Amino acid sequence: MEFEADYLVIGSGATGMAFVDTILTETDDTVLMLDDRAVPGGHWNEAYPFVRLHQSASTYGVNSKELGRGRIETSGLNEGFEELSCGPEITRYYHELMEETFLPSGRVTFLPLTRYHEDGTITSVVTGETHTVKVRKKTVFANYITTAIPATHTRSFETADEVACIPPNDLPLRVGDHQQFCILGSGKTAMDCITWLLGHGCTPDRISWVAPRDAWFLNRVNFQTIDQKFFDDTVGGQARAVEVYAAAESIEDLENRMEAANLWQRIDTTRRPTMFHAAIMTEKEVETLRQIENVIRKGYVKRIEPGRMIMTEGEVEMPADTLYVDCTASAFKNYVNVRVPVFQPGEIHLQGIRQFQPCYSAALIACIEARIPEVEKNNYARPVPGIDTTEDVLLVLAAAMENTLAWMSSPEISDWRASCRLDGFNSLITNADMNDPKVAETLMSILGNGETAINNLKKLAQDAEAARA
Ligand SMILES: Cc1cc2nc3c(=O)[nH]c(=O)nc-3n(C[C@H](O)[C@H](O)[C@H](O)COP(=O)(O)OP(=O)(O)OC[C@H]3O[C@@H](n4cnc5c(N)ncnc54)[C@H](O)[C@@H]3O)c2cc1C
Repeated sequence: MEFEADYLVIGSGATGMAFVDTILTETDDTVLMLDDRAVPGGHWNEAYPFVRLHQSASTYGVNSKELGRGRIETSGLNEGFEELSCGPEITRYYHELMEETFLPSGRVTFLPLTRYHEDGTITSVVTGETHTVKVRKKTVFANYITTAIPATHTRSFETADEVACIPPNDLPLRVGDHQQFCILGSGKTAMDCITWLLGHGCTPDRISWVAPRDAWFLNRVNFQTIDQKFFDDTVGGQARAVEVYAAAESIEDLENRMEAANLWQRIDTTRRPTMFHAAIMTEKEVETLRQIENVIRKGYVKRIEPGRMIMTEGEVEMPADTLYVDCTASAFKNYVNVRVPVFQPGEIHLQGIRQFQPCYSAALIACIEARIPEVEKNNYARPVPGIDTTEDVLLVLAAAMENTLAWMSSPEISDWRASCRLDGFNSLITNADMNDPKVAETLMSILGNGETAINNLKKLAQDAEAARA
């Protein structure tokens, strides 16, 4: 078949959907969207059944459609905080968006089960048939940071045939068959499995946890945006963070100050984390994870055999009937890879332009595409580097703060941001009472420390690199 559209968008995950949504509201253009999956929503379609967002629903998704019901949760580990959507809510959200908004607009054509190839051809996953596309404006790569998840990734360790090793997707089905559980991985998925097991009555002594690295977490108290009552914690938290970025004398000093200011948390306060994946956690979640005493720190798993694990730094004896839960998928394929310019001739490469916010970044890139002249676009869309370690976070924050200053200098972008539901921080600031001296002091602190913070973060990153060399 032959297709023609202003934009060809590869990938209908969260970033592709956020981009297209804003293109529809900002322009009269047409879009051909394709995905090798059967339905929109990307990796969320294969998520484990107890997955939830770790950021508030109020700032996830696309700009034109609310996700969630704007509730504060009244029980559980997220009690007192904004709701976090679960997997089925997210996949339904993207399904409805496609069926009720994108397709009825008459401007979007969606080709599921269709793969884009590097030579620019597209083929049906089912029939292998090739289609041709005439792209009038740009090809948009919404697959640059394709998410690796346990259900679909390739394991980097071996298991003997007799060993039970499952993705977290199967945990609810298999939980009744085992007495002992070993959770593999240091990331958010591993932590979700542990809190899920504990929340269903499993005692901590039945759980062991292979955690090759310790991680820093963001404190959820600083990411609440649906009510002005959160201004002090959220915008005030941002002001305290920018103060730390401006004053820190080393990475270790920055970490200590962030922890002392209640902005960052870690599970074991006697160990210095090296990993930073920007997981947002409540203090209750961190407290719950501290119950696990059998944390195995012998590097990465190489092979699991009945009764033992062979690891990069030794061997560990394990109870024979242990159920291993593989949470080792690396999340982002291009997590730490070099970034490419977002805007290139005839192409857009969706990437983070604000730290830890893929949906907001994709929507804002569409706004820049629609509102800013071609030659200036990349000035407002410096890619925020990938993040894996605490050292990476320095350049991530510096780049994101530089972008924010650039956005503030553009009336076209500021106007869009002022009403963007994905920008919770900005909406708290826009709706704040500017006559309140505390509000004024908070905002002046962010503005006053901004430039110093950017320069200091870059210097700390250089110092870290020099120390490594
Ligand atoms: C468990 C979990 C929880 C998370 N929670 C949050 C959160 O709370 N907040 C947050 O901001 N982020 C969160 N994330 C990060 C998450 O990855 C992003 O929010 C977002 O879903 C990523 O969307 P994406 O469009 O970049 O990638 P994907 O969801 O991977 O979508 C890309 C799509 O493109 C398709 N595709 C790729 N290549 C091709 C090709 N050549 N041809 C055709 N189709 C192709 C893929 O099949 C896929 O459907 C979480 C991630 C995980 C794994």
